[in-house]
Amino acid sequence: PHLRRLNLNRELAEMQDILSHTLPKMITVRLETAPELPAVHADPSQVAQVIMNLAVNAKDAMPDGGTLTLKTQCLTLPQGHASGLKPGDYVCLSVEDTGTGMPETVRQRIFEPFFTTKPSGSGTGLGLSMVYGIMASHQGTVLCHSVPGQGTRFDCLFPALPEAA
Ligand code: ADP
Ligand code: MG
Repeated sequence: PHLRRLNLNRELAEMQDILSHTLPKMITVRLETAPELPAVHADPSQVAQVIMNLAVNAKDAMPDGGTLTLKTQCLTLPQGHASGLKPGDYVCLSVEDTGTGMPETVRQRIFEPFFTTKPSGSGTGLGLSMVYGIMASHQGTVLCHSVPGQGTRFDCLFPALPEAA
């Protein structure tokens, strides 16, 4: 991977531009970026791949349209957080949809390679295992919150870099 010092707000704005032109018109693409976001160490093409895989799933979950929100936030994880990540400051990049959501039995398996609920031929079941691998290679992780009938949010956590001198 080609790790660089990145501001994820800039990556998200670029992806919003691309997605708002490529997703169906019934899907609104919103951007909600935190001001003064710390930088992260990341490979821009892999960040784009993560957002694209999550956005395609969001589109599939909103066949009648809806809202896709791309969001950044800064957060501090305490010791012993459920994610298993080291305590400290993280940048959280979220991709949120107002789609079908998924039951807990599905949610538990989504990061397994080849796991898919889509008809054969339409899903490879590799999108989320790729996202998981990319986030692990960035010393981060990806978490999923989903409510059937309401929607789904994926949180991608990147360790925050200390402020440049
Ligand atoms: P694929 O999209 O090829 O099925 P993925 O690894 O991208 O494979 O996703 C695995 C499964 O996770 C999907 O088949 C679907 O059941 C579920 N899933 C992923 N994203 C969402 C979402 N935004 N809303 C509802 N279900 C989702
Ligand atoms: Mg997919």
